[in-house]
Amino acid sequence: MGAELRGDTLGRVARRDKQIAVPVRPVLRKGVRLRRSGDAVILDGAEKRQAFTGRFAREGLGRLAAACDGTATHAELAAALGLDEAAVYKSLALLWASGALEEGDREGPDPAVPPELACLLSRLGGSTGVNPSWTDAAARLGRAAVAVVGDRALAEAAAACLDGVCEVARDTGRPSDADGALVVFFETRNSRPELAALRDRCRTEGRALLRVRADGASMTLGPYVDPAFTPCLECGVSGEEAPTDDPPPHSTGLIAGLAAHHVLALLSRAVRTHLPLDSGTVDLSTLATRYRPSAVRPGCPTCSFSEGPVAPAPTAGALYEAAVALPPRAFLDTMGHLAHFQSSNVELQWRFRTWPGRPRVELPEADVARLAGAPSGEEGRTGLGRPELALLLAIAFGIRERTDGWVQRWTAAGGNISSATAYLISRDEDVLPAGGYAYREKDHTLARVADGGPPGGLRGKAPVALVVTADLAKMAAKYGTFGFRLALGNAGCALSSARTVADRLGLAVSLAPDWDDGLLSGYLGLTPSEEPVAAVMEVG
Ligand SMILES: [Zn+2]
Repeated sequence: MGAELRGDTLGRVARRDKQIAVPVRPVLRKGVRLRRSGDAVILDGAEKRQAFTGRFAREGLGRLAAACDGTATHAELAAALGLDEAAVYKSLALLWASGALEEGDREGPDPAVPPELACLLSRLGGSTGVNPSWTDAAARLGRAAVAVVGDRALAEAAAACLDGVCEVARDTGRPSDADGALVVFFETRNSRPELAALRDRCRTEGRALLRVRADGASMTLGPYVDPAFTPCLECGVSGEEAPTDDPPPHSTGLIAGLAAHHVLALLSRAVRTHLPLDSGTVDLSTLATRYRPSAVRPGCPTCSFSEGPVAPAPTAGALYEAAVALPPRAFLDTMGHLAHFQSSNVELQWRFRTWPGRPRVELPEADVARLAGAPSGEEGRTGLGRPELALLLAIAFGIRERTDGWVQRWTAAGGNISSATAYLISRDEDVLPAGGYAYREKDHTLARVADGGPPGGLRGKAPVALVVTADLAKMAAKYGTFGFRLALGNAGCALSSARTVADRLGLAVSLAPDWDDGLLSGYLGLTPSEEPVAAVMEVG
């Protein structure tokens, strides 16, 4: 089953979300069609096949789409079809998000491009959402110039693909004045010696260089090197071996075609691509593809801020950060933003852990009035009891209010998804019976997850230790690998709030600079690969 997007959800946010651009005079994209299949209406031709379900889809969507001729406004469409304008708006937002519609309100005559190129730019343009209309993508290509050099057979084949799409040069003689003047270099065993001089020249002239490498088994598209925002070529290819054999002659068309496809994507912004931040290595016999980000090697004289000997490879941390980095604005796909409104992702806001079968411990209501006014001075200093713990947990990890469709929290959380989980280790019977507890934010109670006092290594002077963990599985469900960073960020936000509350109440806190992951995980019943400990703070 694919991702579900509900018209109601999208209609509610579309008017205030600047990244949702419902066309003013919508027109059906070239090369797509809507057809009835059983109880659903199917969209064919867009990047992904989509099914629309529900009564309006069956009865009204086909008529609405047919009336979208690029001249009628929303009000005119509503009047012509006898529909409510709000319902029309909601349906148009959904059709636009699905890649069925584009903007028909455009100035001047359509650009003169081959009809199959116009169809491609229109049909797939919804996959990035960058261009209001295919004519904007065509205009970008009209302003672009590419120099295609390196291995002669590959360069000639790629240039032949790009002729008629944008301005193509077979040499790098004159830096073009055109936007996006890009140099594409095909690296093979024979052409490799030319690359160093070209790389230096592009760096000096500030031109973007796309390296395409091919050998007997695979091709690598990338790295894309732009002195303005990417690591240098040497860092991008660190660890790579020189080609030892040539690509088979029958793969010339495949290599050139894939390279031309991604160049078209970069320049038109109408088609998705892993460039500019990732390289893609394609196995020439299986077409299996692996992606790799470019990251700076510590000490690189070209692109690193650090001095000293040049490391042979980027660090794991730098590779992770590069793998989840957002591209510069000019390369951002606005359509990716719609993931926020997919039903499965909205539902994550409402998913709370409960530790079923574990004994519950009630907490007092959080008295937020205690946070108003001036902070407690020495005379206002309070001891740690359940009311103070309840307030600290509620503000840092809890739910403030649940209203129609949205969960509100006291503390910021990436995607409005709570991934920071609070555990308490009590060492003081006056606060809580000694043991380990998890905070259930859904009903503001504790679940007892460990009995008995903590083992030796977890003993401390403070009555309570607050252990903050990161729920990786929950964040990864929406954000993939980026979820790791967000989950740690959420834990940091929660911890900041907890410290602020403690300061206001005059509670002593101290952050643990280090802790024993194995000991904590064993005691609290955590699986470190799914729920790592993000922070430990002694309280009271
Ligand atoms: Zn470098």
